[in-house]
Amino acid sequence: MAAMTDTKHATGVLASERPPEAAGHGWDPAAIRAQFPILSREVNGHPLVYLDNAASSQQPLRVLNRVERYLREEHANVHRGVHRLSAEATEAYEGARRSVAAHAGTRDPAEIVFTRGATEAVNLVASSWGDASIGTGDEIVLTKMEHHSNLVPWQLLAGRTGCKLRFVDVTPEGTLDLDDYDRLLGRRSRLVACTHVSNSLGTVNPVREIVDRAHAAGALTLIDGAQAAPHMLTDVAKIGCDFYAFSSHKMCGPTGVGALWARRELLEEMPPYQGGGEMISEVKLEGSSWAKIPHKFEAGTPNISGVVGFGEAARFLADLGSEAIASHEGALKRAVLGRLREIQGLHLYGPREERGRTAVFSFAYGDVHPHDLSTILDQRGIAIRAGHHCNQPLMDHYGISSTARASFYFYNSPGEIDVLCDGLAMAAEVFGGVA
Ligand code: PMP
Repeated sequence: MAAMTDTKHATGVLASERPPEAAGHGWDPAAIRAQFPILSREVNGHPLVYLDNAASSQQPLRVLNRVERYLREEHANVHRGVHRLSAEATEAYEGARRSVAAHAGTRDPAEIVFTRGATEAVNLVASSWGDASIGTGDEIVLTKMEHHSNLVPWQLLAGRTGCKLRFVDVTPEGTLDLDDYDRLLGRRSRLVACTHVSNSLGTVNPVREIVDRAHAAGALTLIDGAQAAPHMLTDVAKIGCDFYAFSSHKMCGPTGVGALWARRELLEEMPPYQGGGEMISEVKLEGSSWAKIPHKFEAGTPNISGVVGFGEAARFLADLGSEAIASHEGALKRAVLGRLREIQGLHLYGPREERGRTAVFSFAYGDVHPHDLSTILDQRGIAIRAGHHCNQPLMDHYGISSTARASFYFYNSPGEIDVLCDGLAMAAEVFGGVA
């Protein structure tokens, strides 16, 4: 993905917003869907309509088969053994690192640290870089739309160090208030940590601009890419950030695995995050020295099968092509927006226009509780999410406790939009009308 040359695209403008002729050729929706066995199952007697992709995406046969082959034929512990299986497992593990590095847009696989997910990637930075670099009076700038994963680790750091957290406001349209950002940035700012795409609103933040302004103020930047890496070209060099966190299970890979990308110099300077086997160079009773990056940050036996699946997922997405994925999702996004706007009593949170948003739709439906709506739709086989989506401060900002959220991925079809809209109409009838 690093080979792409469109800076705007790399910094948060979706490929779907380019002219249609730029989109991928040979996209066969039925053939793509057929690669995801779970999509052909039924739920409550209806074909599954899976619209909870912002929580976790599904895995194609290619990923399932690769993990199975690893477990059946190649499994051993990595890095230490000289026997054949250990060499094969190590090659599978490090090969996955190269694929994930390519997905993030770096040529240097040592800049990819495998973690349990985006959550652990942020915790790693908060603990390792944060404890070493942050003190009383320092400030960390976050936004009011952060997932708890990119908020609570900084609250814990503030508790340990006495640093202050500042929060960029969100406009009524669900975008970041960049004037407020400018007001908050100052000589005490040490880090700006911001989501690339909001998991509740679908807002695509202008990360290049955010990063440039932070750097001008002398602050480092961490971008939470959990909701961006699955959907758009990710190119950390073009974004210009210092840290980028993302998760495998949102991009067709297994759960419990993700990655932190960080600039090599930072990783080299940062102290280890956890201690144990694999992360050392030499251990004496009096003290130890550390392995080179990235292994310095990967203590203990890692989630090898998960990493192998993550690597296959990255190759799968690369083969589909980020432009084709974004183009197909862009068409879905346009269609969903058009339909949702027509539904009486439905209030959409986040950007109302296509531009600057992804195909994640959070909404209120009259005074129907999102959990009730989700339960009714489930009876029709439709999986949406109801709740605060790990965005409680954002919910507070809107004065609500939860939303219903339908989130699409490239394997969703236009027909599923019809099923969702029929389901909403049915729910309105059940509740005696929605105003
Ligand atoms: N950030 C965002 C924006 C997310 O949507 C999520 C997952 N919902 C996370 C971080 C955390 O990812 P994980 O649970 O895979 O660590």
